[in-house]
Amino acid sequence: MYDPKSLKAEEFINHEEILETLAYADENKDNIELIDSLLEKAKKLKGLTHREASVLLACENEEKINEMYDLAEQIKKDFYGNRIVMFAPLYLSNYCVNGCVYCPYHLKNKHIARKKLTQEEIKREVIALQDMGHKRLAIELGEDPVNNPIEYVLECINTIYSIKHKNGAIRRVNVNIAATTVENYRKLKEAGIGTYILFQETYNKESYEQLHPTGPKHNYAYHTEAMDRAMEGGIDDVGLGVLFGLELYRYELAGLLMHAEHLEAVHGVGPHTISVPRIKRADDIDPDVFDNGISDDIFAKICAIIRIAVPYTGMIISTRESKAVREKVIRLGVSQISGASRTSVGGYYEEEPEDENSEQFDVSDKRTLDEVVRWLMELGYIPSFCTACYREGRTGDRFMSLCKSGQIQNCCHPNALMTLKEYLMDYASEETKAIGEALIKAEVEKIPKEKVKEICKDHLEKIEQGIRDFRF
Ligand code: SAM
Repeated sequence: MYDPKSLKAEEFINHEEILETLAYADENKDNIELIDSLLEKAKKLKGLTHREASVLLACENEEKINEMYDLAEQIKKDFYGNRIVMFAPLYLSNYCVNGCVYCPYHLKNKHIARKKLTQEEIKREVIALQDMGHKRLAIELGEDPVNNPIEYVLECINTIYSIKHKNGAIRRVNVNIAATTVENYRKLKEAGIGTYILFQETYNKESYEQLHPTGPKHNYAYHTEAMDRAMEGGIDDVGLGVLFGLELYRYELAGLLMHAEHLEAVHGVGPHTISVPRIKRADDIDPDVFDNGISDDIFAKICAIIRIAVPYTGMIISTRESKAVREKVIRLGVSQISGASRTSVGGYYEEEPEDENSEQFDVSDKRTLDEVVRWLMELGYIPSFCTACYREGRTGDRFMSLCKSGQIQNCCHPNALMTLKEYLMDYASEETKAIGEALIKAEVEKIPKEKVKEICKDHLEKIEQGIRDFRF
């Protein structure tokens, strides 16, 4: 039985409900009257249900798809302005006891180099990341209770926050580790993490069990109910995601939106972020083996519909995608991107020798952070290194209510400009700096509230004088 308020995975991600949703979407994919009414409803910025969004996804009418794209772009502007939040992944350990068939870290892979960073090595990685200008990290680990126990994760978080090198500091650590217990989530919360991220991989239980044949991750319910345990443990901000290519994308979108509806229904706060990874080539993984790969066009359509259906959520795209794809989907609703990422364990400090590959997947966008920042600004976006929200208590429902009422713009926009200024002063090339300074000047003039503008100008001057403010 379908029940968004249930705490049982098979009731809030109900297979029959998804099948009925897909049948309903098929029946209505040419129903222009309905599609128009859904687009009208979405313009009110309150989102769409999984059924409604599934109709839009099934629609193949080009004119309507273009309308969806325009609407997604507008919604993104309404909630997030022209800011793009920057982050980098940090791989701490690739030891893993699971058997995920799409991931090269699976237990049976005996030739991938297994690595786990010591605290000293983490320091080197973090300094390398700080020297690029990063302030926000997502830490990544395989699941291995012996090699990567929660105590190790906590120690690493502590080390990362403690490193202050030149003007650098990692101000927000998001965590992407396997589903765990309420008690462990509580410990992560106490360690001061930002968002807890866990990709569902696929919402289809049968496929899920086949794709995760062995190890603790095989348990569909335990994995799917992880966000409820995280919230019970006090974590306010959780990040959802699907690994596109494993299952039928229409099934996945319906499941993903049902998951968001469930979090809203039970906890009063939806996903802080939604990630949209696609399977990539990796050590012993050939993405062509999976039958459900999606084209760049379908991928763009999915991104636009997520933005329309869950307007307040942060949408994340990684360097799995190329510059061209990233450019397309940033316009359609993506609000956070990674830059200069390494998916190997220890890859920021030094390049791995070829016979020591520990990478999780091939990166498509290999540009430096300076190049990514410059490119974003040339496209008219403001790269933001701001991490203030969770330190200022703007998490969970408080963030959501500010975001939903459009007020977050009053603090996010000036903060983005100030952290961009810090980046330009401390890390940017001369060319990037020149473009950025002109952009900041123009953007400050556009800030509507005089008081906010004055505060912003004041801070920008202080940054110019070398004063760094770790509140942002
Ligand atoms: N071990 C943690 C877990 O079980 O959720 C998460 C960390 S894993 C390093 C991060 C994510 O990378 C996975 O959730 C999966 O979606 C993604 N991933 C794994 N193999 C991939 C591949 N070949 N291409 C692209 N993404 C992949």
